[in-house]
Amino acid sequence: MFSRILIANRGEIALRIIRAARELGVETVCVYSQADRDGPWLEHADEAICIGPGPASESYLRIDRIISAAEIANVDAIHPGYGFLAENAHFAEVCRDCRIEFIGPSPEAMALLGDKISCKRMAKQTKTPIFPGSDGAIEEVDEAVKVAREIGFPVIVKASAGGGGRGMRIAHNEVNLRAGIEAAKKEAEAAFGNGAVYIEKFLEHARHVEVQVLGDKHGNAIHLYTRDCTSQRRHQKLIEEGPAPGVDLKKMEAVAKSAAELIRRAKYSGAATVEFLMDGKQDFYMLEVNTRVQVEHPVTEMITGVDIVKEMIRVAAGEELGYRQKDIVINGHAVECRINAEDPARNFMPQAGLLETYSAPGGFGVRIDSHVRPGYRIPPNYDSMIGKLIVHGRTRAEAIARMRGALDEYRIGPIRTTIPLHRRIMDYGPFIEANFDIHYVERLLKQDAAEAAST
Ligand code: ADP
Repeated sequence: MFSRILIANRGEIALRIIRAARELGVETVCVYSQADRDGPWLEHADEAICIGPGPASESYLRIDRIISAAEIANVDAIHPGYGFLAENAHFAEVCRDCRIEFIGPSPEAMALLGDKISCKRMAKQTKTPIFPGSDGAIEEVDEAVKVAREIGFPVIVKASAGGGGRGMRIAHNEVNLRAGIEAAKKEAEAAFGNGAVYIEKFLEHARHVEVQVLGDKHGNAIHLYTRDCTSQRRHQKLIEEGPAPGVDLKKMEAVAKSAAELIRRAKYSGAATVEFLMDGKQDFYMLEVNTRVQVEHPVTEMITGVDIVKEMIRVAAGEELGYRQKDIVINGHAVECRINAEDPARNFMPQAGLLETYSAPGGFGVRIDSHVRPGYRIPPNYDSMIGKLIVHGRTRAEAIARMRGALDEYRIGPIRTTIPLHRRIMDYGPFIEANFDIHYVERLLKQDAAEAAST
């Protein structure tokens, strides 16, 4: 096992990694930016090293500074968390060159699964369900038009190197498609330095269902079943739950098994998530593979009892996964609400500033993953999530009831948060019935705004 690791991240995930490392008897070194000088999580690390000014481009994204800190602090490994450098294959390679273990996949496995075209190709071999669409990158626009006619409009043009929704265009007809390919190529070239785009069938009404997987360096790979992340706003997940409700067990088993097979075939070690859209017939189509720990990993931890972050550290240190597939049993249901410092009255504008009041809920089956406390000043530089509220219940209904109570107990001020929206959704019929699609939150917000305007 490692004796010291460096955490190249901040906030709740930095604290999450500190907690996992501590249980393994591993010391932690946090790097931080000047804007995070007073970050409460830093107190729990064994060492903290400032690596630059507030903007992430000057600190958390600076590979040179992070590696220097790692060498000064004499660590064995780096955990990248999520966001920042977590899916940067170049960073993973630099770590390897410097003989520092990257707590995640090899740069090769990351590149293979991180590139959407090569990932789709591999998914075909493992019978992981994918969208019908072009076979590889589009060379000739006429060829793409032919494929679109075969699979039927609407189609979506996507960037192979895509992320954050960039380089995507929906096309309802041939004219749209020709223009969309040109535009998406330019956008992808500018954003990722890789203009490769492809097309696939566009699904109008779908749920977002994903499979948590884990692999080690000994060729073992397992899945930890599903999560549903259908509750989104502007493609950002708001609420996640697991297991995905109402999915036929046989279908769920088959898709989860194929996801584990996909990462085994890619010689992947660490935690990954295979994301799918699921249609009304419960047919699955792979969206992409995230080659890191996800924000919503606690949902899976609550229903399986597996500490995903500890497994990541253990397998990076060369140990075998601590579980076989047959050891993974789902117990009950978990729901997570992302508590973001955003003002719902001002179009969810991120809020920075002083948290005067902060009092978190507690009790049976309630978990808070957060780095904040009263008197903490939220810096303006980073994402707006200030914590995650996760509840576990024997059934989905019990988990939802528990979530309602926990949201009511939560006291945060004067900073505005997403708590009222979560509370609203916990009482919203389509959510309660899990009869929803990825656009339902936006529809609900529109409906609320229209009602407010008419009174
Ligand atoms: P990114 O890596 O840019 O986030 P994804 O492939 O994960 O791209 O897709 C982002 C979002 O775009 C999805 O969550 C979904 O809402 C929408 N989307 C992507 N592909 C499709 C598709 N084939 N049909 C319908 N919606 C899609």
